[in-house]
Amino acid sequence: MSCSSVLYKNLWLADGTGTPLRKCAVLTKGAEVRAIEPAITASAADRTLDLGGRILAPGFIDVHGHSDLSILARPEGFGKISQGVVSEIAGNCGLSAFPVTRFNRAHLNELYRQYGVEIDWDDYSGWRAALARRGVKLKMHALCGHNTLRAAIAGYEQAGLSGPELDEMARLLDRMLEQGAPGLSTGLLYVPGKFADSDEIVFLMKRLAARGALYATHLRSEGSELLESLSETVECARRAGLNRLQISHFKTAGRANWSKLDAALALLEAARQDGIELSVDRYPYTESMTQLSVILPGEWGDLDDETIERRLADPAEQQALETALDESRSSEYWRTVRLVGTAAPGFSGCEGKTLDRLAAQFRVTAPALAVKLLSADAAGTTAGFRGMSEENLRRILALPWCMAGSDENARPLDYSIGRSHPRAFGSLPRFLKLRFEDGASIESAVRQVTGLPADTFRLAGQGYIAAGRPADFAVFDPEELDGTDDFANPHTPASGLLLTVIDGEAVYRP
Ligand SMILES: [Zn+2]
Ligand SMILES: [Zn+2]
Repeated sequence: MSCSSVLYKNLWLADGTGTPLRKCAVLTKGAEVRAIEPAITASAADRTLDLGGRILAPGFIDVHGHSDLSILARPEGFGKISQGVVSEIAGNCGLSAFPVTRFNRAHLNELYRQYGVEIDWDDYSGWRAALARRGVKLKMHALCGHNTLRAAIAGYEQAGLSGPELDEMARLLDRMLEQGAPGLSTGLLYVPGKFADSDEIVFLMKRLAARGALYATHLRSEGSELLESLSETVECARRAGLNRLQISHFKTAGRANWSKLDAALALLEAARQDGIELSVDRYPYTESMTQLSVILPGEWGDLDDETIERRLADPAEQQALETALDESRSSEYWRTVRLVGTAAPGFSGCEGKTLDRLAAQFRVTAPALAVKLLSADAAGTTAGFRGMSEENLRRILALPWCMAGSDENARPLDYSIGRSHPRAFGSLPRFLKLRFEDGASIESAVRQVTGLPADTFRLAGQGYIAAGRPADFAVFDPEELDGTDDFANPHTPASGLLLTVIDGEAVYRP
């Protein structure tokens, strides 16, 4: 990084506050913004950059990421910086790369095996030190994931926790918060978070309240029990006296639940009116993605991925699961599930296709195909699930308290550390594009991905452009801005994004 001065000129500034665009020049020195000046009187600098009338915005903040390990495997974070992202909140959906103990280390190493990074740290500080050693420039933060935290105390199979175990968990959470983790995330759809009852959540929320930390949640249900899950979250927060809530990837999943949006928003608005600082994040797509193993019915759904693979080594168990899947899922269902990535042998070139199509191609039933994938790679097989409403998506993005969250890893252009949903490369530009299409001003849409998330997650020094702040910028052309939605070629850089700057250094230029 040089200490020279740079003058960015011929630009429209969206400074993150939401105030109207203004034509000006921005002077930086080294890693810092020095001055914002009228274009005509702008001072001389070592270098001048003419932005050709484009928008200069604060570097974008991805508030819902999962780059905990991928950023260590490929520290340049290409998929993120090519979207204008300079900062990510990782550790979401209950899954973080800390705290690590003898109870969860092997499991985490197995879960993250595709990244080829050995987890040799124990806590938030240790993870941060690993990032620093790898020279990561993206400004990474991570919530403490409840699933990881719970497993650090009691492993992945235990349902109820004893009093001493709860206390131990709280002490560990306190330590992660002291080390700088901005809050706790839950993933109540997943093992072992799904075993936690409301009392356990309230117990942990009280620790967050005591430290002014934030609670982010992947709800127990985003579809059939959406309203109940939202109520549970808000009710727990009230009981705990916690007033900072983030609803992760907020959606109404499944056509039968699309009509619940009004009731859901009424519930959230009521909580906001009660003084709870509540906000949501969302990726701008109508197809979700997670591990294929979430489709498992009945008792199979309570198993962690390692146990699933182990049990499926037995042909009798394979047959049992195939039958259970066949009985619990309609043939229509398999048309809405798409293979995104897998390390199971024999499936290269199959990514992006629905399980229905792949089953026909392999001349097996869809349940048999799913079993084949899961027995070879339960931890790494990911799938896309159709079932969200475009209209609801746009209504959610239009909430002034909605931010962009990709729900993805930072990935390179190649597929060497796995394949993503297109949201890994397109979320932030696409979020802005959809907002512009729906009539939002550039400055207010930019605020949703900069100042608002910086305030919500208390990211000091981020989200705004002003003298004395870090020179973190995203430069874009609002007419051209777009992010890929191509599942066959998901690792495609966004269009219209012209420059990303972190601490005064140009880290991306297409
Ligand atoms: Zn999630
Ligand atoms: Zn997530």
